[in-house]
Amino acid sequence: MKKESKKRPEIKVLMYHRVIDSAPNDPVQMHYVTTDDFRSQMQIIEWFGYTPITFIDYKLYREGKLSLPAKPIIITFDDGYLDTYEKAVPIMINHNMRGVVFAMGDRSIRRASWDQKQHDCETYELMDDNQLRELRKLGFEIGAHTMSHENLLDLNLDEASYQIKCSKQQIEEVLNEEVYSFAYPYGAVDKRVQSIVEKAGFAYACGVYSGSPRFDESVLDFRRLAVDQRTPLYKFLIKLLTPYQYLEWSYHTLKKKQVLPERHVNKRMITEVS
Ligand SMILES: [Zn+2]
Repeated sequence: MKKESKKRPEIKVLMYHRVIDSAPNDPVQMHYVTTDDFRSQMQIIEWFGYTPITFIDYKLYREGKLSLPAKPIIITFDDGYLDTYEKAVPIMINHNMRGVVFAMGDRSIRRASWDQKQHDCETYELMDDNQLRELRKLGFEIGAHTMSHENLLDLNLDEASYQIKCSKQQIEEVLNEEVYSFAYPYGAVDKRVQSIVEKAGFAYACGVYSGSPRFDESVLDFRRLAVDQRTPLYKFLIKLLTPYQYLEWSYHTLKKKQVLPERHVNKRMITEVS
């Protein structure tokens, strides 16, 4: 087998969920940024010279078919909310940017019922097939996010395989092309789940807090930096411009090893993900 000789760059992977005009009435909802904040964040990304790429771009780079911009970054959106299409995408297009959307494989699911299960809030609309196809035409990548947003660690092998493999097939059917990337709902992943994802034929998969802080050291569990309501602009700058993913990794590792006494565990750092 030919050894890949490409140098592996450090690339930050950001994780977004909803982008909405104003805060929802429901205070438990955390996984959104306002349209104004999102616009500022994209301006900051541009201002600091970053160029958003997709996992497909990265795959082509690894295969020696594409060169990367000087400062690549990957901007991801989980769940495929309609507001990603309506609010985030126009802002990104304005900045000549692209991103990665992880959509549900079961295309009959029109609303994110898992939000209600997790936060007891109202449910929000998801993108339809045409909207996914349109994003793809605009250069966005569409990845898979299971069939119906189950926590894969709660499922047996058959159920988990169904959720992973069928989501790939279903989205491939919508796009009429191969789908390469996957995101674990709730960031819930272990070695067993990773091996199903690999066997299903995905090249890359995203977790949240579980993978290596070094980009591309765990291609089936890319660590991502969450950007949500708890990310004021100063913190966004810290996440973007400092090796913040190493800090989060150190923190979670120390916590797991119980090096940190309970009273030092800052609950705000343990952010919920969906
Ligand atoms: Zn999700």
